[in-house]
Amino acid sequence: MCAQHPGRDAVLTCARCGRYACSGCERAEGRCRECAQQAALAVPDSRARARRAVRFLQVAAGMDLLALFSYAILFAGAGDDTSLWEDGANSVVFLSLFSSLAAQVGLLMWFHRLVRQLNAQGADMGVTPSMAVWWWLIPFANWVKPFQLMKDAAERLGGAHFAAALPISLWWGANILARLLDQVGRQVAKAGVKAGAFDSVDGTSSHLIGIISSLCLVATALFCVQIIRALQERMDQRREGYEAVDGAPAPVEDVAEAA
Ligand SMILES: [Zn+2]
Ligand SMILES: [Zn+2]
Repeated sequence: MCAQHPGRDAVLTCARCGRYACSGCERAEGRCRECAQQAALAVPDSRARARRAVRFLQVAAGMDLLALFSYAILFAGAGDDTSLWEDGANSVVFLSLFSSLAAQVGLLMWFHRLVRQLNAQGADMGVTPSMAVWWWLIPFANWVKPFQLMKDAAERLGGAHFAAALPISLWWGANILARLLDQVGRQVAKAGVKAGAFDSVDGTSSHLIGIISSLCLVATALFCVQIIRALQERMDQRREGYEAVDGAPAPVEDVAEAA
């Protein structure tokens, strides 16, 4: 008989506490409801990390927007004496590197905690939280893996429909385009240096690349904010669910399922 519901037949012995549990109390990884709940609530929640990641991403988006304007001014004024603007643009780009690094760290810290929570809730992602972070840093794999992981997390949190409605493909597309343009920009700059002087034609094309890649970076950051907010909202609902059933009998849907 179930330890919580004396009238119902047990279908398993909890892998953690050893008590009998009925089908309504059965949870992932062979645990009873109480143990599953304890495991889920043992991981600190990711709300604070989500808020911080969103703030950093918004700052990064602002800096990228500034960089975009600087490139646009340089592009429009190509041929004139733009050395002052050039210096300004360089410092904006330099600052935006810092802000995007901070945003990336914030995003990864949030993602680490999100995966840890999902795994503790029995929605196993198939990766450890640390491995989920490493995939963003491993060359070549980081062109594909983070996209798959984010999609996977979204599907586990809200189903395929919820995941499909999020701008995950747009976010990753903008990210890939920004990275490709960054490489093209480097090649153009290198070619300019090799040719001796950075003439106005090379300058113009590098400014144009700068405009487009800044635009991609702004889009990446803003889509990412949207994704973080949506996933965190689902995670908050899940946690509230776990907190609500504390010590209470099986939720209604579980009883219906068992009947
Ligand atoms: Zn148990
Ligand atoms: Zn039960």
